[in-house]
Amino acid sequence: MPLIQGLYAREIMDSRGIPTVECTLWLDNGAIVATSVPTGTSVGKYEAHELRDNDPERMNGKGVLKAVEYLNTTIAQALIGKDPTQQFEIDQLLVTLDGTNDKSKLGSNSILAASQAVLKAGALSLNVPLYYYIQQKYQLVSEVAIPSCIYTMINGGEHGADNLDLQEFEIIPASHIDYESSLNIAVTLFHKIEEVLNIKGAIHSTGIVGGFTPNLYSNTDVFEILVETIKTSPYTFAQDVFFGIDAAASELYTGGKYSLKDRSEPYTSKEMVEYYKKLRDLYHVFYIEDPFQEDDENAWKQITADLGETTKIVGDSLLATNKEKTAEAIKNKTCNAVLVKPNQTGTISETIEVIRLAKEANWQVIMSHRSGETNDDFIADFAVGVGADYTKFGPPNRGERVSKYNRLLQIHQEILHSQVAGSPAVETPPAEAPQNPETSAS
Ligand code: PEP
Ligand code: MG
Repeated sequence: MPLIQGLYAREIMDSRGIPTVECTLWLDNGAIVATSVPTGTSVGKYEAHELRDNDPERMNGKGVLKAVEYLNTTIAQALIGKDPTQQFEIDQLLVTLDGTNDKSKLGSNSILAASQAVLKAGALSLNVPLYYYIQQKYQLVSEVAIPSCIYTMINGGEHGADNLDLQEFEIIPASHIDYESSLNIAVTLFHKIEEVLNIKGAIHSTGIVGGFTPNLYSNTDVFEILVETIKTSPYTFAQDVFFGIDAAASELYTGGKYSLKDRSEPYTSKEMVEYYKKLRDLYHVFYIEDPFQEDDENAWKQITADLGETTKIVGDSLLATNKEKTAEAIKNKTCNAVLVKPNQTGTISETIEVIRLAKEANWQVIMSHRSGETNDDFIADFAVGVGADYTKFGPPNRGERVSKYNRLLQIHQEILHSQVAGSPAVETPPAEAPQNPETSAS
């Protein structure tokens, strides 16, 4: 089995022009992998700590040279000579090297870069596609398939231009639609939305993940625009296409209330539940992410009790891809689906534990990009390999977003081909036993 011979990291720019970490790792058989980690804008308070230099003289204070240095010294020394297929052992080592609860010593960015690189190297050392390696190794799904896709078409909140309050307005093709047709719907509607916005004179540019940021009077006006757009297309609203939102409500929360431009008075939590119910009933919004601030627990429970039967109530900042938070939310019925962002927790093994918990509770799993992305398409393979129900990779626009959709197209073709030709003749990687939360790294 090939062993890790070295790794080297560097500071690169993410899609917002903010530094992030890239890591190259090589094996003693000459194989090389490279990977980079994304970073967020609406960062939840329970996320692991991303290490930044805070040097005002460089990169606007956002440099990551300390994280790079840790990768090139402490982490490289610990990983050299290790078998890259021993992901759990290596991730535990990374967690131990850091030694803090929130990865604030080495940084979640340096740790995840190493963890992701090891996963890629494990697949390469067995000469199998990454998604297939992940599926075989973790056995979270019996067969590989492309998840359904959630496409963010309109950006507001921290991702927009100070125009709309809700962070994301999404279109979701019906889940029976195959991936190529789903992407066709998204691309068709993306360009038609622009036409409709132009006709309406709703001045727009694009937000930080590449969706449109129109000037509209209210958040609900977005749905009117989307419904109108779908009418100009070959698709039928609430049959072929549904809607979703990411409220990112922590960003709307001040003084115990939520501010939306839809009304001059801020909304109480109870009123917000009613607001979401209206969106559900009027516009078939069946995906609602972060409807409330992280600690507004009663409101979360209320919306899950009231709408959870028919609607995905999705925890992003609420759960922060954290296994304790996820276990607690399952127990308390605080939501019914988890948004997974590996950099919120920092290692692949801990991310897998969260996904396993969610699946055991019959929750749905949504694999997500971050607003600060790179062209690394790792997350596409990861979504397929763990059997995510949905992906959330932004609109079909801008290089760092379409790199994920294009990778899904390749995987889609490979899956179709292997179904026709029979299973690919590849070595089966050793399965990693489900980890015991009592004994695994925190
Ligand atoms: C999100 O909130 O789902 C998101 C992708 O945003 P960010 O990466 O800015 O947290
Ligand atoms: Mg979110």
